[in-house]
Amino acid sequence: MTNSAKANKLTQSAKAGNPMMCLYGQGVARGYAIGRVVVLGATALEVSHYRIAEDQIQAEKSRLTNALATTQREMHEMAANLPADAPRELAALLSVHGMLLSDPLLADQAVALIDEKHYNAEWALTAQGQILAEQFAAIEDEYLRERGSDVRQVIERVLQVLSGSKQVLALNHEADADEHLIVVAHDISPADMIRLRGARFAGFATDLGGATSHTAIVARSLGVPAVVALGHVRRLVRDGDMVVVDGAHGTILVNPSREALEQYRRLQQLYLDERAELSLLKDVPAETLDGILIELEANIELPDEAALAVANGATGIGLFRSEFLFLGRGDLPTEQEQFEAYLSVVTTMQHRPVTIRTLDLGADKTLDGEATVATNPALGLRAIRYCLAHPELFATQLRAILRASAHGTVRILIPMVAHMHEVHATRAAIASAKRELDERGQAYDDHLLVGAMVEVPATAIAIEPFAEALDFLSIGTNDLIQYTLAIDRADNEVAALYDPLHPAVLRLIANTINAGERLGKPVAVCGEMAGDSQLTRLLLGLGLKNFSMQAQQLLDVKREIRGAHSNALRLKVANALNRASEIDPATLYH
Ligand code: PEP
Ligand code: MG
Repeated sequence: MTNSAKANKLTQSAKAGNPMMCLYGQGVARGYAIGRVVVLGATALEVSHYRIAEDQIQAEKSRLTNALATTQREMHEMAANLPADAPRELAALLSVHGMLLSDPLLADQAVALIDEKHYNAEWALTAQGQILAEQFAAIEDEYLRERGSDVRQVIERVLQVLSGSKQVLALNHEADADEHLIVVAHDISPADMIRLRGARFAGFATDLGGATSHTAIVARSLGVPAVVALGHVRRLVRDGDMVVVDGAHGTILVNPSREALEQYRRLQQLYLDERAELSLLKDVPAETLDGILIELEANIELPDEAALAVANGATGIGLFRSEFLFLGRGDLPTEQEQFEAYLSVVTTMQHRPVTIRTLDLGADKTLDGEATVATNPALGLRAIRYCLAHPELFATQLRAILRASAHGTVRILIPMVAHMHEVHATRAAIASAKRELDERGQAYDDHLLVGAMVEVPATAIAIEPFAEALDFLSIGTNDLIQYTLAIDRADNEVAALYDPLHPAVLRLIANTINAGERLGKPVAVCGEMAGDSQLTRLLLGLGLKNFSMQAQQLLDVKREIRGAHSNALRLKVANALNRASEIDPATLYH
């Protein structure tokens, strides 16, 4: 049964008299929240549409432009007065909203609708918003598609200003001081998040959103449980309803029975105890019971995420997916812009190593306006192939990375290497970028390490020359599994066949780690396998000593490492690999 079918069925049973209702969505920030619903209004759904008289056009246009300017001013004020402990993402998100407000595609076109069609200001704004939202919805890239929600959120706020409302959320100040509030909304904008900060709110539930939506990003950084993509939660619950938000399983329980509530309170306490215990691990080393020290690094996509990495005790950045600096914009970031982005990560990491992966464009990550025409883009001009085919673009990035290397420990990571000549060509491009910086008199670290992603099976099989020629290796299990098992990692229909435990995958990982050990070259895993704490023992058993993952996963994995005996696991895993069967990670606990 699909999620919406389940929700409908449960809704019907609720209507038939059952007061308890469970809704299914996508859990994007773990934890349990229990409290009373506060519904955040969706003004766009409720605005009135009418045509205005000829002699009112000028006044209506001013009404709209004044509301846009007021909203813009509010955003600036908020950005300037962000509390010191506000999540870093909020400032960036506010500036995106500020830009949208002054974007002619929104503002000028809406004003033109008043002029040409005599729409009232609210209608003009929502009509133009609809056009933009449809354009965003047609974008294939999930991250960019979700940016359509920014347009909607900005419009919501302008509509509230037009209606004279100062407060987005009418919080019930008379609520019992001990009672937690759960925000239920169609969607939650970053600006709403700031307004909500001072209030006692414990969880989020929204109709829209996905794993990379703003609600998800901000909720995770605030550590507040959240479930998104619930479909119709805003219409199905009322202010004051009791709800349980289960951020791990992606469910919302509305008006739970006393027994269910007690059960969830116990689960919540267990979870809180577990997190409190985990946070004690932030500064202790990731050392196995038999004294093997493991590096635990973080993966980031944007510079701001480095702070979260430090907060979770990361010993470095193992993977900075630099292509995210290039996505969702009409132009390319300049050398200076890139340098500043890399430098900000280096500065935040305070001399911990920062591994910057050169552009991994192509496949599902393409530049704006550069729609892929390849029959199978995952096998096409992607990653290092793309960079070597665009030498100017590559040289600009390499200069920016090299300049950042003068300020800390920076490493270069080459994605999707399959041929030794790609390694040689990259080394030559780095040497040439160094010469250009010499000519300019700009500093860089002449000894910066250069490594490669091992994510193509050919590389993992014929690994020796790569391990010899490079300073380190990092296994990208996401792509390695995709290419080994011929499973498109983005295709839901074959998702069940995407199997990290397939013996072929494990042998390729083992082969790479063993080659690194023989030749004295560090080997990391930076694909999603590294952050799955149920696979920690297996990876230790394969001999892995460097894991790189999302910051929020670091402490769970560290706990696993500290409870494991590395040498015993190596024996067990070696035996199992020889038998060529799948390894059940559960057997590694006894
Ligand atoms: C991988 O393929 O495992 C990896 C870490 O790179 P990406 O997910 O960015 O392709
Ligand atoms: Mg990859």
